[in-house]
Amino acid sequence: EPVDLVQLADETADMLHMTFQRMIRVHTGKQDVRLNGDKDKIRQLLVILLDNAIKYSKDAIDITLSVSKGVVRMSVADKGIGIPDDEMPFLFERFFRVDGARSRSTGGSGLGLSIAQRIVELHEGQIDVYSQHGKGTTITVALPQKK
Ligand code: ATP
Repeated sequence: EPVDLVQLADETADMLHMTFQRMIRVHTGKQDVRLNGDKDKIRQLLVILLDNAIKYSKDAIDITLSVSKGVVRMSVADKGIGIPDDEMPFLFERFFRVDGARSRSTGGSGLGLSIAQRIVELHEGQIDVYSQHGKGTTITVALPQKK
């Protein structure tokens, strides 16, 4: 049974909203956004990205979903502290956290993004980070609908 990403994003956003009292908006057109994949793992992927956005920003978080040419795109965007350019190459390494001192006030092991990347690889997709230090971060995941 295909995974309904709009429903999954809505559910996950609601759950995290209730837990952390943060605004998480889900943007999607009228189109269905469905793919063949592991629902639990994709939920975990979303939780990792949203948990980071919650930890490293204070304002509303935007999830945007779309599909074209058989590829689903899901992005999680925050307007938080961003990631310094020189730290970008290490983000997906296990146990990596930007600037220990800065990160220490927020809990975390540095495993989240390495797990996220693993889940994306299992779905034969791609994960990309766009970040401006001090302005915010957008992480986009592209997943083929049929793998
Ligand atoms: P956890 O394993 O609990 O997720 P973590 O957030 O430290 O802990 P990762 O999710 O792997 O670990 O993220 C690695 C590092 O990348 C973080 O420590 C943080 O410095 C940086 N980072 C990740 N997402 C964001 C974001 N949305 N905004 C700013 N920095 C981020």
